[in-house]
Amino acid sequence: MDLGLRGKVAVVCGASAGIGRAVAETLAAEGADLFLVARRAEALSGLAAELAGRYGVTARFGAADLSKGEECSRILEEQGGAFGRADVLFANAGGPPAGGFEASVSEEKLRQGWDLTFLAAVRMIRGLLPGMRERKWGRIVALTSVSVHEPIANLALSNAYRAGLTGLLKTLATEVAGDGITVNSVCPGYTRTSRLEELARASAGTQSPETVMAAWAQSTPAGRLGLPEEVAAAVAFLCSERAAYITGVALPVDGGRLHGLLA
Ligand code: NAD
Repeated sequence: MDLGLRGKVAVVCGASAGIGRAVAETLAAEGADLFLVARRAEALSGLAAELAGRYGVTARFGAADLSKGEECSRILEEQGGAFGRADVLFANAGGPPAGGFEASVSEEKLRQGWDLTFLAAVRMIRGLLPGMRERKWGRIVALTSVSVHEPIANLALSNAYRAGLTGLLKTLATEVAGDGITVNSVCPGYTRTSRLEELARASAGTQSPETVMAAWAQSTPAGRLGLPEEVAAAVAFLCSERAAYITGVALPVDGGRLHGLLA
């Protein structure tokens, strides 16, 4: 199937590692030009050169801490200067720290989680939406988590802010559907990245992180952890021309981990 992404301009956030990196590569393989965003310019520069060389696409990058409003504004300006438009936004960044209610509700932690897990996505959408509306074509996909379907113990901030973001995305999806713009989210289950290793270390106690990850794999009906490429394939489809009639969904990519009937 031709996804119809050749020549589209995709802004990929959190592109230097994990699922974001896999999304950048999958979109490049489909012929999309890329604007890569993460905090480390060095990593982005190497990735942009690698993907441009391998897939013959144009790949630019900008380094920014997306939890900071002024850096989001700067990166949006840089992206506009580099391409003049954006057709696709993949909204993504690192997750908030693990912790239950009491460990998470200091003013400082609440603010940090809000900035990173809610506001970063909203700011990027706010910046790119007017152009998509003008051109009557756009794809917005945010990366959230299975926690929006079923909250996860000891991830209070993720449970709180990703659910809020999902509500906002659903609202937006209905408002812009008539402008040819779709708004969806992808909800990974256990996916083998450095973020998952960090969570395994945080919940390891006396066990090794590898033992914790093996237990996670066993508890998943597929019997293994997911791969970043498997999440990226779902993201790329939702970004595609072919997915023009899919909007407002929160799609789990979780090896069967969620047990609810409609998730
Ligand atoms: P990762 O740590 O491998 O990659 C995160 C990417 O975001 C990196 O490129 C990093 O540089 C970038 N990033 C982090 N903080 C940033 C910031 N402030 N500004 C700009 N860029 C920033 O993580 P991942 O596993 O690919 O996860 C991506 C998202 O999906 C996270 O929010 C994570 O919580 C969520 N998630 C992951 C899993 C999983 O099992 N891996 C499951 C559910 C949800």
